Amino acid sequence: AAELFYDNDADLSIIQGRKVAVLGYGSQGHAHALSLRDSGVDVRVGLHEGSKSKVKAEEQGLRVVTPAEAAAEADVIMILVPDPIQAKVYEESVKDHLNDGDALFFGHGFNIRFGFIKPPAGVDVCMVAPKGPGHLVRRQYEEGRGVPCIAAVEQDASGNAFQLALSYAKAIGGTRAGVIKTTFTEETETDLFGEQAVLCGGASALVKAGFETLVEAGYQPEIAYFECLHELKLIVDLMYEGGLEKMRWSVSETAEWGDYVTGPRIVTDATKAEMKKVLGEIQDGTFANNWMKEYQEGLPKYNEYKKADENHLLETTGKKLRKLMSWVDDQE
Ligand code: NDP
Ligand code: MG
Ligand code: MG
Repeated sequence: AAELFYDNDADLSIIQGRKVAVLGYGSQGHAHALSLRDSGVDVRVGLHEGSKSKVKAEEQGLRVVTPAEAAAEADVIMILVPDPIQAKVYEESVKDHLNDGDALFFGHGFNIRFGFIKPPAGVDVCMVAPKGPGHLVRRQYEEGRGVPCIAAVEQDASGNAFQLALSYAKAIGGTRAGVIKTTFTEETETDLFGEQAVLCGGASALVKAGFETLVEAGYQPEIAYFECLHELKLIVDLMYEGGLEKMRWSVSETAEWGDYVTGPRIVTDATKAEMKKVLGEIQDGTFANNWMKEYQEGLPKYNEYKKADENHLLETTGKKLRKLMSWVDDQE
């Protein structure tokens, strides 16, 4: 079973004794920087020329400098810029400012796991990754609570890297909820697999295939949308609150029976065999290398896929229907 760490296991004074740079001020960056500051940590934000979030960070009372200046000043550098550009930011702005004894922090293990960033031997390499979006991390912190985090050490140059990571996690509220120890490898591979096979890829393909099946059989797209996409939220909320058991307790016996007999006909042994292949391509770096190549070529296929789905009948139908539902907040 996983090892868990709480407030009493972490010493806040460790991170309070360091100078922290948070590079990036997006979803995670703003939550980390503000909560570190409110925990009495010396923090500066590193943002590139022309950054959209610079004004916001300054309005919220943070000092904003360039990524290189932030890295030069700090001895703990948390990289919270988008994963595909982290290696570039590291090469251009961080690498030359790393001294022995410094620590390099990440919110996701992608660039370390697949070797796009190779830190020198004298620095600690740590991860503190909240298991929730940044706005929730910040809101929970402000309310005196926290979002559970996972923490990992890839390189323990100081001999105290994990205590440093726990101290950082405490400063953003993570140890109030609980911190689970993991490794860069486990975090990165499971994160990529989850989003591809289940959460994003699996779920959207399932919804689309169900919707298309009904529409191709002559049912109205509006009705198909409600059955295959809209109602999914109800089901997921029940699973989130109480697992499969609560979902099955809440739906009708007919729906529950259909779940047992039809589910395994939809996600079959062949689907699971393909999941294992997908996992293999994550583990051997194929996915990461293909994705970085696509990114560097200017996202041609990414944009093609995006556009195709934007014009899918599921999406155009949903746009229309969501206007009928005043409580659905479609921010566009
Ligand atoms: P966002 O896309 O929300 O924010 C990225 C930030 O980086 C923005 O402030 C952006 O500036 C800034 N930025 C872009 N380019 C540069 C640059 N060259 N130099 C300095 N800053 C730059 O990212 P996320 O917060 O989503 O992700 C950050 C990390 O956290 C990733 O490793 C991600 O995997 C991880 N993570 C994210 C979670 C999430 O819920 N989103 C959850 C757990 C981990 P601008 O405002 O100008 O665009
Ligand atoms: Mg992910
Ligand atoms: Mg129904």
